[in-house]
Amino acid sequence: MNIDIQTVYTTSIFIIGLVGILLLWSWLQDRRSKALVWWALSFLVSTVGVVLLSDYDFLPDLWSVEIAITLLVTAHGLVWAGVRSFSDRSVPWLGITAGGVVWTVAYQSRIVEASTTDRVALIAMLAAVYTIVTGWEMFRDGLVKLPSAPLVLVLLAAHAACHVLRVPVAESFPYSFEPGVGGIKVALLALEPMLFAVALGYLFLMMTRERGEAAIVAVANTDMLTGSLNRRGFFEEAERVRQRARKANMPVSKLLLDIDYFKEVNDAHGHAAGDEVLQSFTVLVRGALRVDDVLGRIGGEEFAVMAVSADTEVAEALAERIRTTVNGSPIMWRETPIDVSVSIGVACDPTADVSVKELMERADRALYEAKRHGRNKVVLAEDAANASGETAAPSRVAGTPQPDET
Ligand code: GH3
Ligand code: MG
Ligand code: MG
Repeated sequence: MNIDIQTVYTTSIFIIGLVGILLLWSWLQDRRSKALVWWALSFLVSTVGVVLLSDYDFLPDLWSVEIAITLLVTAHGLVWAGVRSFSDRSVPWLGITAGGVVWTVAYQSRIVEASTTDRVALIAMLAAVYTIVTGWEMFRDGLVKLPSAPLVLVLLAAHAACHVLRVPVAESFPYSFEPGVGGIKVALLALEPMLFAVALGYLFLMMTRERGEAAIVAVANTDMLTGSLNRRGFFEEAERVRQRARKANMPVSKLLLDIDYFKEVNDAHGHAAGDEVLQSFTVLVRGALRVDDVLGRIGGEEFAVMAVSADTEVAEALAERIRTTVNGSPIMWRETPIDVSVSIGVACDPTADVSVKELMERADRALYEAKRHGRNKVVLAEDAANASGETAAPSRVAGTPQPDET
């Protein structure tokens, strides 16, 4: 098969240009992601680069080699700029243009003009450096967590590899071809930028969409007042934690927390003071938790904790730590200290087999017992189960306030 190089170039020009225009169009529809503009610019600059490159025959070397390659290298810098912009980082022009400047200086000073291999090696090095830095930016900012991001990295690496692999065979595969040159190998090399552009443009759009969706899910799962998970978010996360624990045959524990006499806070100090108490309470509880424990506000002044790999003893100690922390930290409202206490019901599942809902119900019964026995207490579900239906107190009611604590 003999594919004419000029045909491939012409097709590339239209396709890469079209991808650039489509990215710009996507940005016009939703202007929140400026990265799309940088990426669109990258493809449009590439398009001009390929136009100049393909006119090797008619244009002087200044345009068809020097400026064409400057534009193609700068396009790599613009991809990097887009990734930085996507991560809300500054976009330094120096970094974007550095590669093009290095190329121009090397070309002008005739360091690379003489040998095709030198030229190809320099271009390969610049493309590889931009690719590595782009990949590093994606890792640094955790963008690789987006489903499409690993594919972007693979694509960038493959693109850089295409440049680098060209170095040993540079004489046969220079960047500028004489007209009439053809053949499948040459055509594949010329096709590569086009395939790369289509795939990369598509993946950049996917990444933008995925991040938008993740932000919507985060808002849907977050309690706006306290910043903790809301009921929906908590149940989702707690289920994830439970599944992980079940696989690892680890225990999980559920703590159900209810602020005592919260209505009185609202009545005595106003609703805004109540809101402040909810916010400060969240900070206090979070401070008492371990990093992996999940906290959610599941109702007005009710919170829940899913404690990871916590057996009854660990969970009870955790609940007790929360109770004493809250009890010992009056919350300031306009210079007035508001004393707050919390009642906590604790339910443990040693093998994480019980559903989150069922565990919640057990913790709820324990919480009820804590309230029934005077509040500011921690009650274990198994003790509450023993006590349910009976008039006797649960066998163990932790945290009965000491005189100096109340
Ligand atoms: P108990 O010790 O039995 O738990 O008594 P309590 O007063 O804490 O419980 P109750 O259920 O009687 O009252 C809860 C109050 O929480 C009633 C409701 O107005 C208030 N509340 C619910 N959500 C919010 C909120 O977002 N902000 C404020 N400030 N108050 C809220
Ligand atoms: Mg309450
Ligand atoms: Mg309540």
